[in-house]
Parts: sequence; C-alpha cells; structure tokens
Amino acid sequence: MDDKQPSLLFKEKESLLLIESERLKTFGEWPNELSWACTPQKLAHAGFYFSPGPESLDNVCCLFCQKELDGWEPDDDPLKEHKKHSATCPFLSLKKPVEKLTLVEFVRLNMKIASLKTIKILDKTRKEFEEQSNTTREEIIEHINQK
Ligand SMILES: [Zn+2]
Repeated sequence: MDDKQPSLLFKEKESLLLIESERLKTFGEWPNELSWACTPQKLAHAGFYFSPGPESLDNVCCLFCQKELDGWEPDDDPLKEHKKHSATCPFLSLKKPVEKLTLVEFVRLNMKIASLKTIKILDKTRKEFEEQSNTTREEIIEHINQK
C-alpha cells in the first residue's frame, strides 16, 4: 500500500497514541514554555499528540477526529479548544480512558474514527476532483477559443 494514501486503519505505531501516556511522550520537543497553563500533559489528556510542521511549530493533532490545532496561547485550555473546534470528536464523548473500554466500546470507537476518516478522505477527494475539473474545463474553453 502506498504510504501517502490515507488509511482507515491505524498503523501499529499510531494505535499506541490512543493511550494518553503514549501521546504525552510525543511532546519531547514541545516549543512552548513549560510554565504555561497550556501544558503537554493537558494537551495529551485532551486527546492530542504533538505533530509539528515547518509552518506550525506547536501543531497538535487529535488521533480520534484528525483535528489539527496550533498557535497555542499560555492560558489556552486544550479540552475547551478541542470541544470548540471539533464538537463531534468521539474522544470527547468517552466516559473513561481508552485502555479501560470494553471490547464492544473499543470496536464502536474505532468504527466512529473510521467513519470520520472516511468523511475527511471523501471531502479531500471531492475538492481535488472539483479543482481538476475546473482546470480541464478552462483548458477546453481555451482550446475551443483558439480555433
Ligand atoms: Zn478530536
């Protein structure tokens, strides 16, 4: 399988990030002040793992809804921000940590995650298709006008 293709299933390394203590370990190179109220502990507790990019040094991502947030302020509350930007995230409706879920609850959680991933992939594919069809339409019109 092409690694660049989004997958509905977690890779082994990714699935570890379902566990809060594993998410916390990703914050080793966290660029913000550790004295801030917005700590790596709170971010990991709110479902995020650290996923920096060249343009967003403090970018975090939620494994459960794939929401990415950056530009953190000292007094931000990660859980509040998560709710504000991704109200339907399945992590936010969990009543207990992932490692305490029953098998049925765990399977349901993974189905919700896969469903959210599917919507995201379909949205991206639809946007790419629309962009490509617009480009092609313009090329056809240009070609006709040249004759
Ligand atoms: Zn989320």
